[in-house]
Amino acid sequence: MDERRQFYTQEFNLQKAADWFTDGFGNIKFAVIIGRHTKIYPEKYRKDASTTIILDDFKNLEELRQQILEFLPEAVYYDRNIYDANGSKVGQELAFDLDPENITCPIHGTLSDKMKRHQGLSFCEVEFDMVKKEAIGLYEFLETYFSDLRVVYSGRGFHIHVLDQKAYKLSSKERLELARQSKQAGFHIDDWVTLGEFRLIRLPYSLNGLVSRITLPLRKDELESFDAVHDKRCLPKFLGKEATF
Ligand SMILES: [Zn+2]
Repeated sequence: MDERRQFYTQEFNLQKAADWFTDGFGNIKFAVIIGRHTKIYPEKYRKDASTTIILDDFKNLEELRQQILEFLPEAVYYDRNIYDANGSKVGQELAFDLDPENITCPIHGTLSDKMKRHQGLSFCEVEFDMVKKEAIGLYEFLETYFSDLRVVYSGRGFHIHVLDQKAYKLSSKERLELARQSKQAGFHIDDWVTLGEFRLIRLPYSLNGLVSRITLPLRKDELESFDAVHDKRCLPKFLGKEATF
């Protein structure tokens, strides 16, 4: 928790996180999960450690940061839903989630093999390299439909965000069709994210407390050589020397 406090006090780049929201963050809702996977949480939040806590009452991002510091969460998200002034959902940012554990590894096998060994959230360098290649491929696949794409290293795998205006308005049926085609093309995406049932997505520049990595937007042309073990931009300072293994 000291590490989380240090990160959100000294390192979290509030301005870059704000710049992520090209239309401003005034109507964006955020969320935190304190300790669902890590089981690390402030004692006073023991009962809420696994709860998704929505943060929608702040005047500016500095206030949001103060709230994050109060909870010291393992994860910070934002809500992809777009709401009107009455709080009704009027659209949703389209996103794709690629995680290495969904990759069948030549060494470690399928997700269910890994689950049997209680390694459901673990992944190796081979799997990371495979998921990186999928991110490049999925990006290029999506480029045939959309023009405003962004790719983010999530701390484990990659998220591809589609920011074209038309993508916010897609129906459930159209999202389902895009997910179907992506999977047919061989990409191991998480349906829940694409279909919008899971509407939260990790906030760029926040800390992924499961793996101690900073959620990092990348240019498409730097994806191929991106090295999550050594790239200083995704290494929180608290790792210190440990980061160079
Ligand atoms: Zn593996």
